[in-house]
Amino acid sequence: MTHQDFEEIRETPPVPTDPAADFEDLPIQCIDCAQDFIWTAGEQAFFRDKQLQNPPKRCKECKKAKNRRLEAIEIAKITGKRQKIEVRAECARCSVVTTVPFYPCQGRPVYCRDCFSSMGSGAASANSIS
Ligand SMILES: [Zn+2]
Ligand SMILES: [Zn+2]
Repeated sequence: MTHQDFEEIRETPPVPTDPAADFEDLPIQCIDCAQDFIWTAGEQAFFRDKQLQNPPKRCKECKKAKNRRLEAIEIAKITGKRQKIEVRAECARCSVVTTVPFYPCQGRPVYCRDCFSSMGSGAASANSIS
């Protein structure tokens, strides 16, 4: 008769719940610079815990840049002064890449200085670069 000296009933030790265990690092393409960045498992777990709705769309650098733009807009609202910001945008008319001192709204055309002044003070006064 063999004596079994082993613990036969061994409770499975509780697996330490790592909230990130369900996730894998996920590459996402940044909508601003088109570079892939890694949405880490940890960030995804955080995202789920907070029940956030929108996965990140920008890499860290572009997110920072965007925050800086938003900040500048906020400061401008508060102080009534236009902050010196430069946003790269493509002219809707001649496709030249220009910088504009404001953050263009989506779907709103941006014109370079030349096109803007050649159009005169007519239709496109909405985007006046003053
Ligand atoms: Zn980016
Ligand atoms: Zn132009």
